[in-house]
Amino acid sequence: MAGAADLRIVMLGPPGSGKGTQAALLAEKLGLPAISTGEMLRQAVLAGNELGRKVDAIMASGALVDDATMGEVVEERLAAEDARQGFILDGYPRTMAQVESLERILEAESWAIDAALAIEVSEAVLTERALARQRADDTAEVIGERYRVYEEKTAPLLDYYGGRGLLLRVDGDQSIEEVTADVLAALSVEA
Ligand code: AMP
Repeated sequence: MAGAADLRIVMLGPPGSGKGTQAALLAEKLGLPAISTGEMLRQAVLAGNELGRKVDAIMASGALVDDATMGEVVEERLAAEDARQGFILDGYPRTMAQVESLERILEAESWAIDAALAIEVSEAVLTERALARQRADDTAEVIGERYRVYEEKTAPLLDYYGGRGLLLRVDGDQSIEEVTADVLAALSVEA
């Protein structure tokens, strides 16, 4: 996997794995947009628009926004000019239904996912980070709920992408710089 262009990557990992940080660093390195659905939803909430009003309470509870809504958000974002040469998806897909929506969106453009990068983190490190990055309105209960939802709905995606031969696993217990180096090595991109 050589050039920077035309790489379409999904980031997988539990809340607190650092996948958002790695997505942003990788995107900068490759000159591709990092598309964070969580960030898009948070902005919609701040803007107080229709989408924001719909997702506000759901996000605050740690639950997932429904797949149909997320499909619309992602389809619209991937249609933007800056996503045509590739992208790093951070926080999407999160359910098997979202995987299927994404496949449909990609197929319509004759695109395909090139790699699913799984940032793997031990439970001890996850707990430590979850507390450190706690957003103002998050309670331990909501953090726990996000993790539970990840295990139930998102973790199965690892097997799915693994079965397709697209899964690249990186040890996320290391420092940010070390994880980035491993991410680039896994993708065969020069550091
Ligand atoms: P994140 O910043 O990725 O942790 O996302 C924050 C919150 O936004 C999640 O806990 C969900 O409520 C919602 N969210 C973000 N991405 C998705 C998605 N792909 N599917 C459903 N809900 C999402």
